[in-house]
Parts: sequence; C-alpha cells; structure tokens
Amino acid sequence: MEYLMAFIFGTIVGSFLNVCIYRIPMGESVIYPFSHCPKCGEKIKWYDNIPIISYLILRGKCRNCGEKISVQYPLIELLTGILTAGVIWKYGISLVSLYFLILACVLIVVSMIDLKTMLVPIKLCYFAMVAGILLSPFISISSFKDSILGASFGAGIILFIIETYYIFTGKEGMGYGDANIMALIGAFLGWEKVLLTIFFASLIGSVVGVALMVLKGKNTKFALPFGPFLSAGAYITILFGNEIINWYLGKLGWCF
Ligand SMILES: [Zn+2]
Repeated sequence: MEYLMAFIFGTIVGSFLNVCIYRIPMGESVIYPFSHCPKCGEKIKWYDNIPIISYLILRGKCRNCGEKISVQYPLIELLTGILTAGVIWKYGISLVSLYFLILACVLIVVSMIDLKTMLVPIKLCYFAMVAGILLSPFISISSFKDSILGASFGAGIILFIIETYYIFTGKEGMGYGDANIMALIGAFLGWEKVLLTIFFASLIGSVVGVALMVLKGKNTKFALPFGPFLSAGAYITILFGNEIINWYLGKLGWCF
C-alpha cells in the first residue's frame, strides 16, 4: 500500500518533470502558464492531466485538435513513479528518501534534456548541487564535509577523464556538462559513491553502446550523451551503494 501511494505520488511529480523537460531548454517558466497543447494552445483540463491514465484514455491525442501527444509523457510519469517507489522501499518515508528523490527527479530532467538536445542544463545542475550541499547537514546519512568533497571530486574526476582523453587522442570524449552532472551527484551522494556511480555508468554505457552497434551496424557514427548513464548509475548507487561498498570491503578483507 505504501509503495502504491509512493508510485502514484511519483507519477504526479513525473507529470511536472515533463513540463520542466519541455520548457527549461526554451527558457520558459515551469510554473506559469498552466499546461496547454503546443499545437492548438487549448488549456489542458484537470481530467485530461491525470498521469498515464489520461494518455491511455485520449489514446495519445489532444482532445481538442487531435495532435499527437509524445509517448515521452506517460513514460516519464511511469519512470518517476517506479523510481519513487524504489526509494521509499529502501529508505521508508523519511528525510533521507526526500533527499534522494530530489536528486532522482533533477537527474530525470537533466538526462531527458541531454538526450533530446545534447546539452546539459547547467543552471539546473548548479542550483540543485548547491541545494544538495546546503541540505546535507540535516540528513542523517550525509554531512556538509562529505557533500563538498563529493561535489569537488565528482567534477574533478570527470575533468581529469576529459583532459586525459583529449591529450592522448586529440578528441573530446565526454562534455563539460557531464562534470556538472557529476558534481551534482557527488553533492548528494558523497565522494565514495562518485566512484561507484561512474563505474555503473560506464558499465551500462558500454552495454548500450555495443547493443546499438549490433543493431545499427558497427560503422555507424553516433554520439551517446553520457548524462543518462551517470543518472542510471547514481540511482543504482542510491539503492544498493552501501551494500556493494560493504561487500567489496569484505572481499578485500579476505585478501589481506
Ligand atoms: Zn490541441
């Protein structure tokens, strides 16, 4: 029951994240005006704005003009619902959950904008990072010092990878936007989990990269934005980071 409520709450938040994903790249306000159809401008009625369900009832079309509604809308609502239920499953209804959900939601918005435009919304990353640092002393599992270290280490390690890659290949691998994303993740998760996040991001990125090569042919040139992988890595770390770090340290204990 608790998880179902968390899921439903998540889909409602997801509905707002959709607005952010659509409007932030255009520099529009995310609060006003209320949602309207981009084609006919008709204001969307409350009963047509119910997460996931309205999309299914309307069969993906605007009630007024029949313009197709992107499947991105229900998918983001579904994803936010699932991620919210996941965090509540792990940390219960607590400040810690709220802290991690703020990070998860910002990362959904950042990743989707990164996917659609290949640009990282720097301002959003910056303000979220500052919020993560300022809130850290009030959250039982983090501290101000950890948060500052995490943000610095997150940005630093990505810059190090970018410059190393550039010096040896003359090409740009990751973008500076990724350093901003990692600073944000580090502010919320602390420096140890920055490493774990990058490990999972690289792992998922490699699997997806290879899969795309198989599907589209090896010689196809494509650029994958790294933001969505960093976000996925951060989410796995939120849920299982402590267990993995303890397991790993335990293994090391056997060696020495
Ligand atoms: Zn319309």
